[in-house]
Amino acid sequence: MKINLTKPIFSFEIFPPKKEGVWLQEIYNTIDALAPLNPDFISVTYGASGSSQDNTVEIASLLQKKYKIPSVAHLTCVCDDNENIERVLDRFKEEGVENILALRGDLPDGATLGKFKYASELTEFIKSYGDFFVAGACYPEKHLEAYTPEEDIKNLKIKADSGAQLFISQLFFDNAKFYSWIEKVRDAGITTPIMAGILPITSAKQLERMVTLCGATIPEGIQSIIKAYNHNAFALKEAGIAYASMQIIDLLAHGVDGIHLYTMNKPGVAQRIVDNIKGPLYSLKQS
Ligand code: FAD
Repeated sequence: MKINLTKPIFSFEIFPPKKEGVWLQEIYNTIDALAPLNPDFISVTYGASGSSQDNTVEIASLLQKKYKIPSVAHLTCVCDDNENIERVLDRFKEEGVENILALRGDLPDGATLGKFKYASELTEFIKSYGDFFVAGACYPEKHLEAYTPEEDIKNLKIKADSGAQLFISQLFFDNAKFYSWIEKVRDAGITTPIMAGILPITSAKQLERMVTLCGATIPEGIQSIIKAYNHNAFALKEAGIAYASMQIIDLLAHGVDGIHLYTMNKPGVAQRIVDNIKGPLYSLKQS
């Protein structure tokens, strides 16, 4: 199933639940709640170290077959040999999963490096392996390992030239940073559509963990929300939903190519955000 790329593209990201035995029911509950929100696609994360890889294929297939929602299956290469990558790609073909988010992944402790060093190499390989639509990741505040933003954008151009047809951004909270980065990306000759990755803050602990993982700047607006409502989980969650909704409405007003919502398998939060943004989103989609 192909993705509808009419702008602004709107999507969710889910992950295969870790709990063995109950994961299928949990994922049904999540998708049951997300499906009526009419996303253009739902992407499914992939564990670089192996345990949940087959669940990614299964969920990506379920989304299409049962729910008729286009899926984007994530695929990493950092510690996979060619044999496993080909095995997973063959399974995507068998299940009719045509859209892949090609990623390098992060090397888990003790794991050995795979054949491909960068996502661009995986992208090129996937394009040569079958008729897949391939998306890639991008970093408005630069990837943590890149020395400079310019170097990271140069590497993003390599990924675009390798065949990436859509980029999905790392989460960020400061739209001004995103707008100035987009300008530099377009100046570098990258014309690929770019979706803004938005994470609704639902707890201070979650924020801390995500920021350590990806290095996103915490703007003053978020800092004051945490300071004011940290003692009250309900108030903090409500403020997080309001902040993410306003962030998205501003991005839509600035003509963003798409919004990718990191749902963290919390469909209730996604539902609330869609309720807040659906007027601006659908009016732009129809124009
Ligand atoms: P790359 O594009 O390969 O970039 C990695 C680093 O190498 C960057 O610093 C880049 O500047 C540099 N680089 C790239 N190409 C070159 C080159 N040719 N020469 C020199 N340097 C180069 N991880 C998972 O394990 N599972 C997931 O499901 C998952 N989903 C994600 C979804 C999104 C939307 C995003 C933004 C990230 C996701 N990640 C996931 C995390 C991702 O795997 C990590 O951020 C990883 O560190 C980099 O992956 P990449 O594909 O961006 O790598």
